[in-house]
Amino acid sequence: MNQSSSNRINFLVQASESVVQSNPELSQYYGRVMTTLAEKSSTKMDITIKRRICKKCLVALVPGVNCTYRIRRKTSKKGHPTQVITCSACSTSQCLILKRNYKLKCETHGKVTMLQAK
Ligand SMILES: [Zn+2]
Repeated sequence: MNQSSSNRINFLVQASESVVQSNPELSQYYGRVMTTLAEKSSTKMDITIKRRICKKCLVALVPGVNCTYRIRRKTSKKGHPTQVITCSACSTSQCLILKRNYKLKCETHGKVTMLQAK
């Protein structure tokens, strides 16, 4: 794991979230730098960081500022409720399954860290 690149990605996430209300273009630039840095250093971004930035326009998603969180009842294929996060800048939405006792693959292996190397 490259420690300096993970530290830089963590800093960019925090900086992107702090400037999203005053300067959304700067937040978008930080998101672009973050994804480029993760690709070039072959560092895998954690799922908690990935869910905090928009997949299309790469702006930081802060609820109440530039995105909305909605809970839909039983809209997944197996009838579980889903959480829909919609970016207000590009209106891209992502659906996350809200299932009781549902754990991500990284949580089941006991590796809950902010960043993981490939
Ligand atoms: Zn967006």
